[in-house]
Amino acid sequence: MTFDYDLFVIGGGSGGVRAARIAASEHGARVGLAEESRMGGTCVIRGCVPKKLMIFASQAEAHAAEARGYGWQTAGAGAFDWTMFRHKLDAELTRLEGAYTGGLAAANVDIHKQRARLADAHTVELADGQRLTAKHILIAAGGRPALPGIEGEELGLISDDLFLLEDLPGRVLVVGGGFIACEFATILQGLGCQTTLSYRGDAVLRGFDGEMRRHATEQLRMIGVDLRLESNPVRLAAEGEARRVDFADGSSEVFDAVIFATGRAPYTKGLGLEQAGVKLGRKGEIVVDEWSQSSVPSIYAVGDVTDRVNLTPVAIREGHSFADTVFGAKPRKVDHGLVASAVYTRPHELATVGLTEEEAAARGPALIYVASFRPMRSLFAGSDARAAMKLIVDAETDRVLGCHIFGPEAGEMIQMVAIPMGMGATKADFDAAIAVHPTLAEELVTMRKPTRRIGDDNSDKADASA
Ligand code: NDP
Repeated sequence: MTFDYDLFVIGGGSGGVRAARIAASEHGARVGLAEESRMGGTCVIRGCVPKKLMIFASQAEAHAAEARGYGWQTAGAGAFDWTMFRHKLDAELTRLEGAYTGGLAAANVDIHKQRARLADAHTVELADGQRLTAKHILIAAGGRPALPGIEGEELGLISDDLFLLEDLPGRVLVVGGGFIACEFATILQGLGCQTTLSYRGDAVLRGFDGEMRRHATEQLRMIGVDLRLESNPVRLAAEGEARRVDFADGSSEVFDAVIFATGRAPYTKGLGLEQAGVKLGRKGEIVVDEWSQSSVPSIYAVGDVTDRVNLTPVAIREGHSFADTVFGAKPRKVDHGLVASAVYTRPHELATVGLTEEEAAARGPALIYVASFRPMRSLFAGSDARAAMKLIVDAETDRVLGCHIFGPEAGEMIQMVAIPMGMGATKADFDAAIAVHPTLAEELVTMRKPTRRIGDDNSDKADASA
């Protein structure tokens, strides 16, 4: 049977674009790609990129305060022009969108600017009714914000909306305690909004190292966010343009805007997956094997739609590996075991790679090295903000199992730490590196004595998992 394409990709985000480009330009495949929205996907259009630019924008007042601490006679950062910023942001996203489209066009990928769904194992149907066949189909449709399921939730905003606001809200409630909630609360507070964060747990960023979570939680308070822990909204109602929020504890309050950052779900609805026989998991994710192949052999999936590790660089790696495996005769799997990540809160970011202290304790004996200190730059300017670094080391093999950094530019540092950790570095390897002085990162190679030992109750598990 002849097909219109060797590969048809549904979704023009990080994973789909990479797979399409590599399959076409490096392996000579005939590729078509459908994208219903702007090319670039969540990361470029309504995620990582605009978010990080907003983080930069939101730091002006803090930088002015620091400058005053160094002797500059400046009253503050001045007034923030949201309209100017937003237009500039949109122009930048348009530029990036163009770069993505241009990259695909240069690789001879056919772009279909419309929604596509599966018709069968080798056929996609476009929104205009056109049917196209392909030997392989890759679903890279990403994820969508998930709402908590409370009364009046449609009156709230989701993360996508933040980048499109005409005006910044005066009083804003952010709901959730994950990546997005913490980053958005940091941004909105920094841009001058009176920001409240409502989170149902007792410390933000569940899943991260417990000690680091406490630092991140404390920092939100320190920068002025009204942090409500063990708090949950149960109802939203409109009061003119404003929103009245009833909380589970019986309290009620009015905000100009409510933003739900209560997780994301795989965007698989309406894609025709079930009819084509593609197996879905409990959250609607496409179930794939280590090669990103679904239960239907001709259909593959990468990125958030598979709900493995929901991060852009992981989707990119999955897309690239898929293209090399299927079209380049270069079988490549993705190791999801040691993926570094960073939460871009400010002034300190939280970055992590490997096991948390809690995970290590459950695994077996480990030595914990912790350095907690006030960085010289902010200390001199008069800030009490504390940074912290933690190494988790296997007590028997000396291998570094986890690294957690809470500090300025922690994301930049963790990227470098991920390299030796991926190579199996030991604490002795870290110690062998001579410090770069004076830096924050030197703490990672100068922690001589363990702060504590953990996990002795679980020594048998360490043997089993070694
Ligand atoms: P997360 O899964 O990180 O956090 C969701 C938060 O919402 C949690 O605090 C969760 O609480 C809370 N929550 C979930 N359901 C409810 C509910 N029904 N009522 C009240 N609270 C609820 O999701 P995000 O939306 O923050 O981010 C989605 C994903 O996007 C992340 O997992 C990450 O993979 C990616 N991302 C990565 C970034 C980065 O790399 N810097 C930045 C932004 C996003 P609980 O913890 O108690 O379950």
